[in-house]
Parts: sequence; C-alpha cells; structure tokens
Amino acid sequence: SVIKELVPHVPLDESRMMAKLNANENPYGPSPKVIKAIADSVSLGNRYGHGDAAILIDMIAEKEGVKPENIMLGPGSTDLLEKTAIVQFQQGGNIVAGDPAYMSIMNTAQAMGGNWKAVPLTKDYAHDLKAMAAAVDSNTNLVYVCNPNNPTGSITDAGELKKFCSEVSAKVPVFVDEAYLEFLENPDSQTMVGLVSEGKDVIVARTFSKIHGMAGLRIGYIVATPERIETITNKVRSTMGLCVTSLKGAIASMQEKTFLAQCKSQNTECREYVEDEIKKMGFNPIPSYTSFMIFPIAMDGREFMKSMYEEGVGIRTYQMYDQSWCRVSMGTHDELAYFVDTIKKVTKA
Ligand code: PLP
Repeated sequence: SVIKELVPHVPLDESRMMAKLNANENPYGPSPKVIKAIADSVSLGNRYGHGDAAILIDMIAEKEGVKPENIMLGPGSTDLLEKTAIVQFQQGGNIVAGDPAYMSIMNTAQAMGGNWKAVPLTKDYAHDLKAMAAAVDSNTNLVYVCNPNNPTGSITDAGELKKFCSEVSAKVPVFVDEAYLEFLENPDSQTMVGLVSEGKDVIVARTFSKIHGMAGLRIGYIVATPERIETITNKVRSTMGLCVTSLKGAIASMQEKTFLAQCKSQNTECREYVEDEIKKMGFNPIPSYTSFMIFPIAMDGREFMKSMYEEGVGIRTYQMYDQSWCRVSMGTHDELAYFVDTIKKVTKA
C-alpha cells in the first residue's frame, strides 16, 4: 500500500482548537430543525427506536427510488462498512480496492483474516477500474470503491464505474462508498443506486455525517439487494443498534432542502477559496470533489502537524507516494482563513 497515516505526537486538544479541520465534519450542522427534533425526542429515550427506524427507512427508500427492503440503517456508515467486511471475510479471502482509499473496510477485512489486494489509483487519482477488474480472482469476496475518494478527494467517472459495477458484481459484491456524493454538482447522475434496482449485487453506502452535519449523531445506510442485506441483518446487525434521538434527527434532516443546499454551496465556495490561497503559496492540491482537500508538503509530516496543532489548527497528515501530504477539511470560512494564515507561518511560504 502507498498510504500511511501519520499519528500526532500529542492528542489534539479540542478545547484549544481555533480551526477543527481534521475529520471532514460539516461545520454548519446539525440544522436547527434537527436540533429541535432531537431535543423534543429526548423523553422518548425509554423506548427502542424500531418504529422510527421503519419511518426513516421508508423515507430513504422513497428518496432513492428503491424499496424499503433495499435499505439497511447503521449507526454511521462505518458500522455498515465493518459489518459487511465481518460477514464477507469470515473465511478469509481478499478485498480488491484502490490505494490510497478510505481504510475502514480494508482494516476490518484484514482483522478478519482477509487480504487487501491494493490497486494503485491512476495518475489522475481515479480508481483504475481495468486493473481492479483484473485483480478479482476466485478468492475475492468483496470489491470496494470509494467515490469520491478519501483521502484524495478525487473522482472516478460515473459512466465507467457503472459499467465496472455491472460487470464485476456478476462475480462478487461491489461496495461503493458514496459518503461525499452530495457535494458533487450532479449527484443524482453519479450514484450507483440505480444498479441495485436492476438487481445487481452492488452495495451503496451513504451517511448523515457529511452533508447533513450529523457526524456525532451516527446515522448511515446502505442500499443493496434484499438478499445481500439479509446476509448482514441475519448475523450481525439489526435496527437494535440505533439511537431514537438520532433517528428523529435524521427524519427531520430528510425534510431539509435549503439547509442542505446551503451546506453544499458554502462547501464549494470554501473549497475554491482554499484552493486559490494554497496555490498562491505554491502548493499543488489534487482537484477536490469533496468537503476536504489534500496537497503535498515539503516539510516532514509529523513536524508540520505538530506546528499546526500548536497554533490550534487540526489537520491530517499522510505519507503517500514517498511524500508528506496535508489533508484539510472545509470548516467555516473564518476557520479556513485562520488555516491559511497558519500554514503561511508554519511553512514560511
Ligand atoms: N466513508 C468515507 C469515505 C468517509 O470519509 C467516512 C468518514 O470520514 C466514512 C465512510 C464514515 O462515516 P460515518 O461512519 O460517520 O458515516
């Protein structure tokens, strides 16, 4: 694998942070309506949330144009990435996935005794679909595609990905992680959800953590065939793991339009601002389609992170392609202006 995340010297002291730009959170959420829905539902906390889970599942199914039996909820999409890997790698086998990519499902697959067949991204940081298809063998139990990808922020062409998913899913389930889909210009034409309605063995993951601004409230879902969902629900996941207040919040957030549109436009505006500013300093970011941006830095990654932390700026650093990289999440405009000033100071750009 070409990717290694660098761990900080000291834990990030959140109370001293001027700009929390390390976890791809949405600085504007949750929406006021979600906050109210949650506050109003605290007293329902003596009851299990199965009824609200059913309501949320119906709402999601309608939005995605699928049936309720195509939807499975989890406390964040992480849970669904992990549970899918637990089920698929009980007898080992391999997972085919891009490198670098979001590591959650590979980590669980490997913990279960599976192997990661890491397929390098193309020079444009897209998934190398041809090479991934060629990497699938008789021991492959899952293919993972993160689109848009984390930590690169890059995109893989939706038309090519659809073709890939259609063909490869005839042999092995394909898990498509669309955590950042809603930040795209035209998300509806880039999702792989339509393939599920066609009966393909494709598992699409989405989350309330990003565009909905509910990362700490933990709600995510997958869209998949009922047969695929049953392989998970029957074994390791039911609506038992869901929290009633978070369900009420997600139900309220499903009804938001203006708030979500504002989050998206503020994200785009901030991303353009950061891109301009860091390019002026001589950095060369990978074009981002997400709520974060990554670029190579000349400084040692851990030294850079330490200096940024000392100034109250939380970012992430990675070692990739024999090079240190800084990944910055789109916070508020003020936080990003502070990030820009701080990186100037720290790198003396
Ligand atoms: N998938 C990707 C690509 C992510 O970047 C993240 C979070 O950063 C997740 C999944 C997990 O999100 P959550 O568990 O909050 O839904």
